[in-house]
Amino acid sequence: MYYDPVEAMDRVALEQLQAERLRETIDIARRSPFYAERLKGFDPDEIRTPADVVKLPFTTKDDLRSQYPHGLLARPLDDFVRLHASSGTTGTPVAIFYTQKDLDTWADLMARSMYCCGCRRSDVLQNTSGYGLFTGGLGIHYGSERLGMLTIPAGAGNTRRQIKMILDHQVTVLHIIPSFALYFAQKVREAGYAPEDMPWRIALIGAEPHTEQARAKIEELMHIKAYNSYGLSEMNGPGVAFECVHQQGMHLWEDAYIAEIINPETGEHVAEGEIGELVMTTLRREGMPIIRYRTRDLTRFIPGQCECGRTHRRIDRITGRADDMMILKGVNIYPMQIEQCLMAMPEVGQNYLIELIREGVSDQMRVKVEIKDEFFVEDMRALQGLQKRIAKNLCSEILVTPRVELCQSESIPKADGKAVRVVDLRGKE
Ligand code: AMP
Ligand code: ZN
Repeated sequence: MYYDPVEAMDRVALEQLQAERLRETIDIARRSPFYAERLKGFDPDEIRTPADVVKLPFTTKDDLRSQYPHGLLARPLDDFVRLHASSGTTGTPVAIFYTQKDLDTWADLMARSMYCCGCRRSDVLQNTSGYGLFTGGLGIHYGSERLGMLTIPAGAGNTRRQIKMILDHQVTVLHIIPSFALYFAQKVREAGYAPEDMPWRIALIGAEPHTEQARAKIEELMHIKAYNSYGLSEMNGPGVAFECVHQQGMHLWEDAYIAEIINPETGEHVAEGEIGELVMTTLRREGMPIIRYRTRDLTRFIPGQCECGRTHRRIDRITGRADDMMILKGVNIYPMQIEQCLMAMPEVGQNYLIELIREGVSDQMRVKVEIKDEFFVEDMRALQGLQKRIAKNLCSEILVTPRVELCQSESIPKADGKAVRVVDLRGKE
């Protein structure tokens, strides 16, 4: 039933395990220059339950940057065998270092995650992530091998070759980021294949925010079951939280992490079931433990038990990042609200782009939307009608009326890795 019995561990025992591992983590963390200073004078005996984690200070991305490259290492550099970096494109990078034991733990968590949505050793997995510093390459790869699946390190891009390998090797599981999945589905059709004739059955989709509507579209266009996969480099990478076959939120592996959800303004815990910022502490990392990391990702705990019997709590899909929020005419807007609205419209194709522009003295939002070929007709009136309808639907969701520009399919440039959804052109046009 489960990859690891710990997945269904009784909550009382699970919380005892968490408290024990948290005390150990504090001990280890203190061997790093950063936490030696940050946790000076803290008595680990103050930790009796996992809830006592609130007695510890937060760690932020800026902390990690300021300590780049070695300030958080709790062991001599010789003990480490790998590093990854988080995908931020600007500023000082953040590097995460792993010992061999850390890599083993990560592969186990990843294998457990894939098993929980139905992957088995008889499956064949093709990984379409780039194999570089991004954890979606090697992280998924080693997890898949750990589970015993035949694993194809296809890497990013080159859709024709990807399709050939899927057919030649009868690929049943695809790891693919959601924005690429929508594009890929189109390419498969263009290559003359019906999605129902493809050998695949499971898509692991993650690494970037996407809506339930986008998932539904991927499932329909690819004729596949798509499971949400969440992780971040600071917490190893993928394999932090994963959907089980019930697709009702992602089980967050609480034997390996303590998760909290806070109000990003006050730092206090939100009420059970409310949305806030996810904060995480590693419990099973010996090389570079991180305590109360502010992920900036917004989500909530889903109340109640999952039908699968796993006892680890579930988080809801990430609705955005605390730093993604746009404020336009005094209204707070998240890109995912826009995606949700667009993807629910049958005329809308695979891609969209939100541009922030300045018109005179006021800020405006322009939403470029790719329209499916069959709706991209020459009848101006029909197109104007569609444009108005999109603007109206968006307005009812975000409370301001954006400018809407209809685009032909594949005319909006696609990023190589994670999709870029918002571009700020204010003062640049
Ligand atoms: P990186 O460390 O570069 O892999 O980026 C991690 C970030 O990607 C997370 O903090 C999230 O913002 C985002 N992310 C990863 N998985 C998901 C997911 N399933 N849904 C939404 N966002 C995700
Ligand atoms: Zn479940």
